Amino acid sequence: MHTLCPSSFTCSCGRPHGSSRLPQLAAELAVNLDHSVQRFVAARDQNLGHLEAEVLHQTQELQRRAVEGGAQAKADATPPCCPVCRQKLTRLSCGHERTFRTRFGPVTLRRTRGFCRRCKKWRFPADAVLGLEESAGCSPAVQELAALLTSKMPVEEAAAVLEHLTGVSLPQTTLHRVARRQGERAQAVRERLDAHATAAPPPHPELTLEPYQMVIEMDAWNIRERDDWGQSAARHRAGQAPERWHWVWTGTVFRLDHGGQTAGGRPVISERGFVATRTGLEGLRTQLHAEAMRRGLGQAVGALVIADGAVWIWRLADDRFPQARQRLDYWHAVQHLAEVGRQRFGDDATALHARLAPLKRQLKNDSAVKVLRQLEDLLADLSPDSPAHKTVTAEVAYLHEHRERMDYRAARRKKEPIGSGAVESTCRQYQCRFKRPGQFWSRAGDEALLCLDTFWRNNRWHLLFPHPHPHDLSKK
Ligand SMILES: [Zn+2]
Repeated sequence: MHTLCPSSFTCSCGRPHGSSRLPQLAAELAVNLDHSVQRFVAARDQNLGHLEAEVLHQTQELQRRAVEGGAQAKADATPPCCPVCRQKLTRLSCGHERTFRTRFGPVTLRRTRGFCRRCKKWRFPADAVLGLEESAGCSPAVQELAALLTSKMPVEEAAAVLEHLTGVSLPQTTLHRVARRQGERAQAVRERLDAHATAAPPPHPELTLEPYQMVIEMDAWNIRERDDWGQSAARHRAGQAPERWHWVWTGTVFRLDHGGQTAGGRPVISERGFVATRTGLEGLRTQLHAEAMRRGLGQAVGALVIADGAVWIWRLADDRFPQARQRLDYWHAVQHLAEVGRQRFGDDATALHARLAPLKRQLKNDSAVKVLRQLEDLLADLSPDSPAHKTVTAEVAYLHEHRERMDYRAARRKKEPIGSGAVESTCRQYQCRFKRPGQFWSRAGDEALLCLDTFWRNNRWHLLFPHPHPHDLSKK
């Protein structure tokens, strides 16, 4: 028979664990700060940066003590219950010390340990309450810093920036481990969010004011991984070339009425959702559909998939977004036109441009069927035995297959995009972090960091780290 946990608890040892002396320290700090300010005023070789650094340095110990005292007091008040199943723990003992890195320096806590008979595990209930479980010895704020910096820049750079800006010093291996653990936690959160988004889309009153179209774009790019690092020779001998490059499946979704232009005429999208995953086409299918639902696909009057000509894209679109119209990226179609032109008119850039320009204009402003008719005429001029005939035949067949997806005139009239530039820029943004020279990733590690970066881009970071930030607190 298990005993349910009491709602309040006083540590059995009866010792006061937290003794902050904060008021006394604050009074001493005020005097010291006053002296520092006077020294700064008198110093000829110091600018405001010197004073800012000195004030931060002096204030930090008070902040650290406040955090340590508060954490200890909360640990002491935590009932001795299993954080997983809520049953009362047995075989309690207190005073188990552990040191954690915080935003203000290391703090040491003494916690109660107990055994959960139901889970058959030793537990530290205070760690769960304080957000220190599975933390590699870092407070939630430091976990967040590690996750954010490592998802934005290589780990050696992240370690240096972290220390420079905050004074928190983490070895690169620890930093990477903390970030990866947070990324794995983010993957679990994403799975829950996605299941919820597709199960019951919440009605969004703002979404129904004006009818809108939903735009969905997809693409893929590759990333370098080293899952079999050091085993290349052995794998070659075994007849298996090690694969280093792997696909990152990427997508973006936005409402058409959220698109606009900057003062300089550059297209911008005020709100959009991002997906990037190494979990294969299945992962993209699930995540992109969930993202589209969260962004209002369920309430949209129509949807449009725009992409280059990859077969997997149209299969995924047919399968997951069967109601959506499909459009081939205009510039991708033009590349195929250009290939026909090269075969027919040669490689001279000026001549080729002169020949292609009317066809491109016709494709954009008139009708794909008319362009196709001209290409077929070109094909008739070529000798059936020539290599050019074979290439042009293939290109014409390709464009013919996509003729329904080349409705550029109608698109321009409706002010819809004719190209998949939004997803191409999304890929480039991810590549800035994940495709640097000499950089290798492991499959699990890169999915964790991609997931973190995507939470940030989707403005869902607060779901991973719900504590407020300085800018939130200053608004209060
Ligand atoms: Zn338990």
